[in-house]
Amino acid sequence: MSKASELLEIGRRHLYGNYKPSPFVVARGRGCELFDADGKRCLDLAAGVAVSCVGHAHPVLTAAIAEQAGKVIHASNYYWNESNIRLAAELCRRTGFDRAFFCNSGAEANEALLKLARHHFWGRGDKTRQRIVAFQNAFHGRTMGALSMTGTPKYREGFGEMGPVTHVPYGDLDAVKKAMGPDVAAVIVEPVQGEGGVFVAPSGFIAGIRKTCDEHGALLFVDEVQTGVGRLGRFLGHDGCGARADAIALAKGLAGGVPIGAMLTTEALAGALPPGTHGSTFGGNPLACAASLAVLKILDDEKLVAGAREKGEALHAMLERVVAELPTVCESARGDGLLRGLVLAPGHVARDILPTILDRGVMLTAAGERVLRFSPPLVVTIAELEEGVAVVRKVLAEIASRAASSPAAAGGTPQTKTL
Ligand code: PLP
Repeated sequence: MSKASELLEIGRRHLYGNYKPSPFVVARGRGCELFDADGKRCLDLAAGVAVSCVGHAHPVLTAAIAEQAGKVIHASNYYWNESNIRLAAELCRRTGFDRAFFCNSGAEANEALLKLARHHFWGRGDKTRQRIVAFQNAFHGRTMGALSMTGTPKYREGFGEMGPVTHVPYGDLDAVKKAMGPDVAAVIVEPVQGEGGVFVAPSGFIAGIRKTCDEHGALLFVDEVQTGVGRLGRFLGHDGCGARADAIALAKGLAGGVPIGAMLTTEALAGALPPGTHGSTFGGNPLACAASLAVLKILDDEKLVAGAREKGEALHAMLERVVAELPTVCESARGDGLLRGLVLAPGHVARDILPTILDRGVMLTAAGERVLRFSPPLVVTIAELEEGVAVVRKVLAEIASRAASSPAAAGGTPQTKTL
């Protein structure tokens, strides 16, 4: 039995069954490559769901983590720590926000936003402003508060009553206006709905929400968990949209894979969560913050943010060629920066095709029902993108020719074994 099979057997017996992982036991990585426990190579164009922005085992990040681990990993928020202070200042400098709260994940960052909104109005004597306006298809995380704002009903099903949240169609400003009222504390929006299916906010949408929030005295939150830290070719996904949020959530790429989340706020909200109202044991620990400072340095040194824009456009052109060549299986390509989706034709299910793509040595993720999502490390090369798209093209071409030779199979989903 190979080492990978042995580990799979133990994992299947002992790990909780809330995930359905592909049978690839990650052992190590370098750049955009991951190797399994038997040494099998895979090209990683998923980056652990838009996380590993500087690739795997980047020497500068590895050294920063090792150096910080050799000094101190954790001391708690009962005390100040240097990398936490420096990271807060650096993020404020880059984004124009004034205050940083650190936690450990995207869901936690959104929980912080939710508590911020409610406590802000409560502190001003307005106890009725509790409702959030969010979007259908939105993804904000799996903890109960974040889940209440997540706009995919199947994720909320079975978990009981959720706080007051109104979900309206993404991109529909009139629907946002209709949903507003004196009880709305905040609107939360993603610049691109990553999990929902790589839907890009229409031009003027976030600026329109900003105006609506101002008219109704509500706060605007932007969930930058997937879009922030350079993924869209600018540091924040909503940079340049003509509006600023009152607060944002960051996570995923922020420390290149070391767990971290952050809420950044304006000075006007600095007092909304006074001591004792919110916190996290691990949040802002020296290790995660040192890793994040190293990631920010790498982004600058290797010009990865501008690179995400250029390489994202190149990737989009490659995907559009696949769409043009294989119109029976592909519908369109969409996205921004290095967050791109290849939208499959109706009847094809993205997650059913992923195992075949993985078998051929490429890691992608599904977004929504019909989208193959590309969210590669920002250090990806054009050659690697070409390699990955060629594999995807071949798999889709096989599906198209199978469907053509057996019309009954058209729209069916391929099985790895039969290809
Ligand atoms: N917000 C957005 C936009 C996300 O894409 C995700 C995760 O995919 C989250 C929040 C939740 O982040 P986490 O899984 O780190 O809790």
